Amino acid sequence: MKLPINTDLKGKVAVVTGAGGVICSMIAKALAQSGAKVALLDLNEDSAKKYAEEITCSGGIAKGYKANVLDKESLKKCHELVLKDLGKCDILVNGAGGNNPRATTDKEYFESGDLDSDTKSFFDLEQSGVEFVFNLNFIGTLLPTQEFAKDMVDRDGCNILNISSMNAYTPLTKIPAYSGAKAAVSNFTKWLAVHFSKVGIRVNAIAPGFFSTNQNKSLLWNEDGTPTARTGKILAATPMGRFGEIEEILGSVLFLLNNEAASFITGVVIPIDGGFSSYSGV
Ligand code: NAD
Repeated sequence: MKLPINTDLKGKVAVVTGAGGVICSMIAKALAQSGAKVALLDLNEDSAKKYAEEITCSGGIAKGYKANVLDKESLKKCHELVLKDLGKCDILVNGAGGNNPRATTDKEYFESGDLDSDTKSFFDLEQSGVEFVFNLNFIGTLLPTQEFAKDMVDRDGCNILNISSMNAYTPLTKIPAYSGAKAAVSNFTKWLAVHFSKVGIRVNAIAPGFFSTNQNKSLLWNEDGTPTARTGKILAATPMGRFGEIEEILGSVLFLLNNEAASFITGVVIPIDGGFSSYSGV
């Protein structure tokens, strides 16, 4: 993979949660290519191990681990293994997250008559579905930070990267829990940046715009592969007029994680969105 920025992470240990997924497996590969020793954590152990193997096969240092970002005990066990295998964590990427159909309304707007229809409206959202999404994104960022940031205290060059989203700025229709949770992730990024400012830990986030990946597949594409109406609206609201290529996330990630280039940057959330968050639609 051709990296957009050359950054030297040699000797650093990077822990990436959600590394069995689309975005974070790519981030893990970029970190390994930049010289870091990478711990790939995911609930899906096979996926984490598969990507770790791809990294080691191309000459990098990586190891895949099963870890649940919602379970302190699982994170603690994983941390012990990472310490033994790779060493103390210098970089934490909190990537596990996503939406779930159980926290998604069928329609964008609630209209007269919807109470009696079969559509899943706001009133039908189950508390468990909303909690699942809120926890995965927010608590799933907080708990790994509690576990791995301990390694970073008073050591040079340590930092944390969270993953927010466009919906943190203005909520997207249909996905109230995901929007609220990512707003919380952006807010928490700033909170942590302040909280850890005296012990040398920088904390930043990226807010990816629209990329077509697993987690949003059913919202963007019909079963026959044609674009949904939502896809049309997204592209119309993205001044650059296209979905992002997943590799276009890497420039900001490598920049923020680079302790020389971003040495005085903490508490920022960088949108990577083709102008979506700047466009009023008019
Ligand atoms: P993805 O579904 O491909 O990857 C998410 C990974 O997280 C999966 O491998 C999954 O197994 C893992 N995971 C789920 N629950 C977990 C848990 N409890 N513990 C550990 N791992 C768990 O999603 P993606 O598109 O690569 O998204 C990665 C991050 O980027 C997410 O935080 C997502 O919300 C965010 N994001 C994605 C987009 C996009 O367009 N795809 C846009 C904005 C933000």
